[in-house]
Amino acid sequence: MSLVGIREYPSPNHDRRGDAPRVDMLVLHYTGMPTAGAALERLCDPVARVSAHYVVGEDGTIWRLVSELRQAFHAGRSCWAGESDLNRVSIGVEIVNPGHEWGYCPFPEAQMLAVDRLGRDILARHPIPPHRVVGHSDIAPDRKTDPGELFDWARLARAGIGIWPAPSRRPPVTPIDRAQATADLAMIGYCTPPGAVEKVIAAFQRRFRPARCDGLLDHETAARIAEVRAAYGLRRAGLN
Ligand SMILES: [Zn+2]
Repeated sequence: MSLVGIREYPSPNHDRRGDAPRVDMLVLHYTGMPTAGAALERLCDPVARVSAHYVVGEDGTIWRLVSELRQAFHAGRSCWAGESDLNRVSIGVEIVNPGHEWGYCPFPEAQMLAVDRLGRDILARHPIPPHRVVGHSDIAPDRKTDPGELFDWARLARAGIGIWPAPSRRPPVTPIDRAQATADLAMIGYCTPPGAVEKVIAAFQRRFRPARCDGLLDHETAARIAEVRAAYGLRRAGLN
């Protein structure tokens, strides 16, 4: 780890990555606890059996809880691009924020700078393609809403972390094609658990159309899904 000023805060909650280990995914979370201290305590509690590789505080402090060589227990039941067991292949970063349950608030500048720095550092050391930088809600849309609609994904994408195409200003005129939107969401990587279509759309909105996360496939959301699918297609093909 080349980052200076990182603080070691070891958690006992980790395991081996398994045979033929690979790390090609970055998952961002918010802690969803009242304080950073409460979050660190829980992420190190052997009974809770949850953890992350890193925790980023509001003031930009970075704590390392688990070595990147090991899997941390951050994703839970999850799926992306048809793959589950994502702890095995990912790095998990918890960003301190009370979350929707305890008073969700904007992520401070010092914290975003640290996320940016840590993210670029991780990407420099692992072959993580842009389409495999995700939020917890992207990979567990029926259970999770973090890091949520206040998280600045556009900023991270400008720093080379993930994909966030600028929205087109053209008003969409075509009728909504629900089947196409579903196919596009799957192409981006979203897995849809049975009966969770609205939750998947809400997860997409939190990430790419954060002004309204109601799970409804309105014209703007449908157009945005097509736009994001096109950007992901280009990146997957290595064209952009
Ligand atoms: Zn999470």
